[in-house]
Amino acid sequence: MNVLTLRQRLQAVMQWLEEQLNRRNTTAGCVFIAAVALPLALQLFLMSVTALWHPEVAPLFDPTLLRWTMLQAGGSVLIYTGALLYCWPRFRSTRQRDWLAYGLVTFLVVSSTSTAILYGHMDTPFGLMVMGSVALARAWFPTRILLPGLVLSLALFVGADVLIHRGAMPYAPLLTAPVANGEPLLPWWNFTMQAIYNGVVLPFSALMFFLFAIMQRRTRELVSLTRVDTLTGLLNRATFMRLFEEECAKQKRTARPTCVMMCDVDHFKKVNDSYGHPAGDLVLVRLGHLLKSATRYPIDVPARFGGEEFVVLLPETDLAAAQVVAERLGEQLRGQVFEIDGQRFSVTISIGVAEAQGGEGGKALKLADDNLYAAKHAGRDRVVGSVAA
Ligand code: GH3
Ligand code: MG
Ligand code: MG
Repeated sequence: MNVLTLRQRLQAVMQWLEEQLNRRNTTAGCVFIAAVALPLALQLFLMSVTALWHPEVAPLFDPTLLRWTMLQAGGSVLIYTGALLYCWPRFRSTRQRDWLAYGLVTFLVVSSTSTAILYGHMDTPFGLMVMGSVALARAWFPTRILLPGLVLSLALFVGADVLIHRGAMPYAPLLTAPVANGEPLLPWWNFTMQAIYNGVVLPFSALMFFLFAIMQRRTRELVSLTRVDTLTGLLNRATFMRLFEEECAKQKRTARPTCVMMCDVDHFKKVNDSYGHPAGDLVLVRLGHLLKSATRYPIDVPARFGGEEFVVLLPETDLAAAQVVAERLGEQLRGQVFEIDGQRFSVTISIGVAEAQGGEGGKALKLADDNLYAAKHAGRDRVVGSVAA
């Protein structure tokens, strides 16, 4: 397997996960929660079983609470396995099972909180486990589903802190001595804490990595949506106006020629009426391509101004050169044959060109529009250009 296919596979997995997240399906969400929580619950269960019967490890624990922890971890294994067995065949079902999500998430958050309190959350990875549970649950479910678990978790943490502060309960009551007390860790703690740490940190980091990747991609898409016309892929009017103003400011300073071109498809309404709206769209898309291929794109900046009206900014171009470009554009469009549902047709455009003077973009744009109007009145399918006064 080469690097590219590995990357592609990773992207496919991420895309699939994102689709699952977007589905906002409670049953699928429960599958993911149970699948991440089950290995950890199993690890905790095995850890407490070993501790209970291991002569060297047992003295590290309070025997009554250790039995309770073992029961809790064993119960968690059963609950997550049950949830997986129940949800897996219903993975694709669209029925929302809020009760299941409430139950599973509340159990996950509360059981990780009680484990964190029992082991001590400040010198073990169990505090991180609570954070990871909350983040994982929030990624899949809305806040309301997390609310009971969060309230209970907060109450447990505050209650435990009050008890510890008053001396009614020791820190890490499950243990006869905290895991970390400044001495090198005992081999048992070294091994088990490392295992728990990896079991929590790896999925948690993967989740964060994945969520940030989605967030950044969506932000890029949103930004692009605000800049680009979705039909033709050209810049939209607002973005064009920003670039145009910048270019006019430059033109004022350098006094080098800059032209603007207004293009409007002739009798476009007829295209829609005779061949249908999709045919009209096809013309706009092809014209978008043409505006790139027939100009010095991306130095020249074509944009969709609105409807079937396009505009092109031609920096460092005088009127004569801009008119040549405009004529070529008209000619190339005239030569294109569109075919839709077996019907063939072609279209023409009228173009108004204006050369900006003194950096006055507004004036140039108005002149290009007037020239376009003149081209329409003179019979369409032609170019009219002039230099702004
Ligand atoms: P003229 O030669 O005077 O420019 O005539 P025209 O028919 O091109 O102009 P008019 O302004 O009467 O019609 C423009 C038409 O463009 C009307 C509108 O439905 C159509 N139109 C605007 N945006 C779109 C679009 O995104 N897709 C399609 N298919 N049609 C569009
Ligand atoms: Mg038109
Ligand atoms: Mg128009």
